[in-house]
Amino acid sequence: MRFDNSYARLPEHFSAAVLPTPVAAPLLIAFNHELAQELGLDLSGVDDARLAAIFSGNVVPAGAEPLAMAYAGHQFGNFVPQLGDGRAILLGEVIDTNGKRRDIQLKGSGPTRFSRRGDGRAALGPVLREYIVSEAMHALGIPATRALAAVATGERVQRETGLPGGVVTRVAASHIRVGTFQYFAAREDTDAIKALCDYVIERHYPEVRAEPKPYLALLQAIAARQRELICRWMMVGFIHGVMNTDNVAISGETIDFGPCAFMDEYNPNKVFSSIDAQGRYAYNNQPGIAQWNIARLAECLLPLLDDDEDKAVEEANAVLAEFAEAFPKLWLSGMRKKLGLTTQDDADGQLVQDLLSLMHRSEVDYTLTFRRLCDAADGNAEPFRGMFIDLAGADEWLARWRQRAWQEATTESARAQAMRAVNPAVIPRNHRIEEVIAAAVEDGDLEPFHAMLKATARPYEELPEFVVYAQAPMGHERVFRTFCGT
Ligand code: AMP
Ligand code: MG
Repeated sequence: MRFDNSYARLPEHFSAAVLPTPVAAPLLIAFNHELAQELGLDLSGVDDARLAAIFSGNVVPAGAEPLAMAYAGHQFGNFVPQLGDGRAILLGEVIDTNGKRRDIQLKGSGPTRFSRRGDGRAALGPVLREYIVSEAMHALGIPATRALAAVATGERVQRETGLPGGVVTRVAASHIRVGTFQYFAAREDTDAIKALCDYVIERHYPEVRAEPKPYLALLQAIAARQRELICRWMMVGFIHGVMNTDNVAISGETIDFGPCAFMDEYNPNKVFSSIDAQGRYAYNNQPGIAQWNIARLAECLLPLLDDDEDKAVEEANAVLAEFAEAFPKLWLSGMRKKLGLTTQDDADGQLVQDLLSLMHRSEVDYTLTFRRLCDAADGNAEPFRGMFIDLAGADEWLARWRQRAWQEATTESARAQAMRAVNPAVIPRNHRIEEVIAAAVEDGDLEPFHAMLKATARPYEELPEFVVYAQAPMGHERVFRTFCGT
């Protein structure tokens, strides 16, 4: 790895140097060779045992400057002035083959100065979940951190029960979070906020440098990427589960795949996370929460926006107002694509809402409904119709959709093809993930994990060998709660 560690060169109080704590018996479970290639890692002559040693933290590669990043964050609405990487260690950064700077970070590699009462470790189950879901997200075309490696540690971690431990190696555009800004804002360290902004501009938003008000432009640009990201989640029925400000990456990537899940049957109020008792991060709350998180970021940037505080607040509020106004438009344009529509009509919003209401009432599977609508687009409406209890309602809606879609100049097959490119057939379904984890943790069987990785790598295809991954859970397979598993 040819490291170039820019974060380590930032002022001392941005991070804490720390070495990974070695584990007893590292065993390589998965390694993402494709990603390694993209990162330009030279792995010639490196065997699995060596990879396991490196990606468990037992061997620190030359050029790495391991550190834990400092950050704060609002957790479920409550501000915690010091969180930080409590079980993650940034090895360093590499410039990938596309010229992009990428972080390589171990998660579960032992305690740091920010561990508070935690053990700095991760259980194997959540490691596998993060691996599968982050890679699936990427395959769906949605910005996300990537998984480079998963290693079993050969040690047990104590949670509610004793569980096998694991380390996941995560690759990110960066690990800077809204909470990173909050850490310095809480300490009224404006110099640090400025340094962080300049670093973020350089690394993620170089285009704002030329703007008359670069820090305002930065806030706008971060807000825009966040909107885009949350809209993409909404389109595929993804529920992050813990949209705390420390889990919001400034780069606009999905990060921290904890108790996240893709919903099966459509329910706008769906919550999976066992720790989200109030439903703060329910599916339909996500856009509003994203805006709330951007408001917290805006507060941190106020001193940089204008010397006149009222003026600064006004500018920040304008960004938030823009967020509120832009999101529904973005959402509707995404939904139009899902319905195969390329033009705009004033009644489109109602058309979409009526379908969603129908889906909610019939408790149909979110992913399959849209996928079967693709079939209806090229002539086979039966599978779509067959999903609904309210058949008359479904027929009435189909007729309206046909009338609307057929006005457009597209051919049926082109429309169906465009729809299949945005409506996935395979998502990483919760009940399959649970099976994968159970097989790995209880029986040491990793075959289901590898099989699922293959299936979720091609989400927009319907391949006979992956049919079981496309199917909705049967009644007894349904998952109602997901656990953070930290
Ligand atoms: P998360 O809920 O995973 O986003 O983590 C929230 C905070 O708790 C972060 O500061 C983590 O680093 C920290 N944390 C979570 N699990 C552990 C653990 N097992 N040991 C130490 N710190 C942890
Ligand atoms: Mg986190």
